[in-house]
Amino acid sequence: MNQKFLLAVCLGLLLAACTIVPQASAQAAQQPAAPTPRRVGPAALPASDKQYDLLLKGGHVIDAKNNIDAVRDVAIKDGKIAKVALNIPATSAIKAIDVTGLYVTPGLIDLHVHVFWGLKKNDYADGDWSIAPDGFTLHEGVTTVVDAGSSGWRNFETFKERVIDRSQTRVLAMLNIVGAGMGSGQIEQNKEDMDGKKTGEMALKYPGIIVGVKSAHFNGPEWLPYDQAEIAGVMAHIPVMIDYGSRRIERPLYQLLEEKLRPGDIYTHALMGARGEQDSETGGPGKGMWEGRQRGIYFDVGHGGISFNFATAVPLIRAGFLPDSISTDIHSDNVNAAMKDMLTTGDKFLAMGLSLKEVIADMSWHPAVEVQQTQLGNLSEGAIADVAILRVDHGNFGFADGGGARIQGNQRLDCEMTLKDGLIVYDLDARASTPWDGPADDAARYASKWTKLRVPTGGARGGGGAAAAAAAANAANAPAAANGQAAAARPARWTPYEVDANGKVTVRDNAKVVPVTPNAKVPPPAATWPIPPSASWPPRQQP
Ligand SMILES: [Zn+2]
Repeated sequence: MNQKFLLAVCLGLLLAACTIVPQASAQAAQQPAAPTPRRVGPAALPASDKQYDLLLKGGHVIDAKNNIDAVRDVAIKDGKIAKVALNIPATSAIKAIDVTGLYVTPGLIDLHVHVFWGLKKNDYADGDWSIAPDGFTLHEGVTTVVDAGSSGWRNFETFKERVIDRSQTRVLAMLNIVGAGMGSGQIEQNKEDMDGKKTGEMALKYPGIIVGVKSAHFNGPEWLPYDQAEIAGVMAHIPVMIDYGSRRIERPLYQLLEEKLRPGDIYTHALMGARGEQDSETGGPGKGMWEGRQRGIYFDVGHGGISFNFATAVPLIRAGFLPDSISTDIHSDNVNAAMKDMLTTGDKFLAMGLSLKEVIADMSWHPAVEVQQTQLGNLSEGAIADVAILRVDHGNFGFADGGGARIQGNQRLDCEMTLKDGLIVYDLDARASTPWDGPADDAARYASKWTKLRVPTGGARGGGGAAAAAAAANAANAPAAANGQAAAARPARWTPYEVDANGKVTVRDNAKVVPVTPNAKVPPPAATWPIPPSASWPPRQQP
C-alpha cells in the first residue's frame, strides 16, 4: 500500500469521525442556516424542571394492594409511580392528561397465555398455536403476561431470545415440565422428557423471568408429571401451575389439592368443571376445592378455548368460591372464539356479579402475588408505573363461554390508554396528542419522558410558538440550492395554521374541515370511473 494512499485513508477516517458529532451541536454551529426544522429535536433542550413526567388527572383509581377505590390523581416520574393523591397540580408535570370518568388501574397481568409463536404446525412451542404478545396485550391494558408452559427447559432460551427479549409486553414464563414444551400428539405424554431437576436448573438460571413450572394436558394415570413439577418448583422456589389434563380415577382432584400441591401453587382452568371442580349433585365446589383453598392453593380461570363454563362458574361463585385470578389462556384458537381477550374475560365476571374492584384485583394484584412479582400489579409509590386506563360502557351485552353458552351483562370494559414503565404505549382516543391544526404543546419537547408514541414535535408543524413559526418560514423561503447540501433537504411542510408575533394561532381557511361536495373541475377517484383503468392491462389470472 503506498504511503500517500494510506495518508488519504487516514484523513478520510478523521473527517468521517469529525462528522459523527452529536446532531444537536452540529446544528447549533450551523445556525441560522438550519434547512430542516424536523431536526431541531429535544436533545438540544435543557432538562425539564417539572416535578413529574406525567400526571393522570381526575380518574377513579382501583388499586387492590393499597385498598384504593376512589378518585385520585396519579403522578409518574422516571418510570415509577411518584404520588397518588387528590388534586396534584397539572403544572407540576411535563404532561398532564385528563382522565375524568375513566378508571385508572395497575397494568393488567394475564397469568396464563401462550406466546411462544413460530412456524411449527399445531404447536404451542415455537408454533402456530401461540400468538405474538404485543398484538393482544397493550390495547387491552395488559402490560405483563405469563406464558404458561409453552416452552420447556430444552427450548426456553429460544423463546427468550425470539419473543421475551423482543416484545414490548413484559413476558414472564412458566417452564413446562416436559423438556420439549407444549405441543400436539404425544409430546406432552412423554414421561421420559419430564425432568424436574433439569427444569429447576433452567429456572434458577433466569430468576424473575421464569416464575413457575407448568404441567398440562396429561392423560395418564400416573402422578409422575406433578411430582417432577414439584421437584422443579421446590428447587427454584417458584409455584407450580396445573392444567389437570384428563380426569383419572387413579389421581383424583381432591388428592392433588389436599396432598400433592404446596400452598402457593396454582390450579388453572378452575371453573371448567371437567375434573371434579364442581360437585355433580349440588353444583357447588367439588371435593377438595375448599380444602385446597384453605391450604393456600390459588385458583386461576385460564378461560382458553373450552376451559371456562358459566354452568360451573355461576354456582361456584354463588357458593362463595371466587377465583384468585382471571386469565385468558390466549392462543390462536380462541382469540376470535368465545374468549376473545383479557377485558372480555373480565366482562364475564362482571356479568356474574363480581364487582369491578374484584375483577381488577383478579387481573392485577392477585396474579402479581401468585407469581411472586409484587413490584407489579399495584400503584404504590415507587412501584413500576405500568398503568391501564379503562372505560366501562353500559348497555346490553352478551358473552359466551367455552361451550358457546351465553350470559347477559350490562357492563363492558374497554381500554383507553396503557402505560408501561411510565411511558404511554397505547392511546385509543389520542388523548396525549395535540390537534392536527394547532401547534405542539411544550410537553412535546420532553416526549421521551412520557410516551413511546409519536407526538407532533414542532418544526414545520409548529410547536415552539412564534420562534418555530419563523424558523419554518425561513426554511420555506430558503432557495433550495442555497448551498450544495440543501438539494437533498426535504421541503418545508405546509402548515395548517399561522402563529403571529404574539403567539396567537389562526387556522388557515383551507385547513378547516367542511362537508365534501363533488367538484366537476377535478377528476373523481379512479375507482368510480365507468371504465376501469386496468382494462388495458393483461387479463387477470384465472384461479
Ligand atoms: Zn394454557
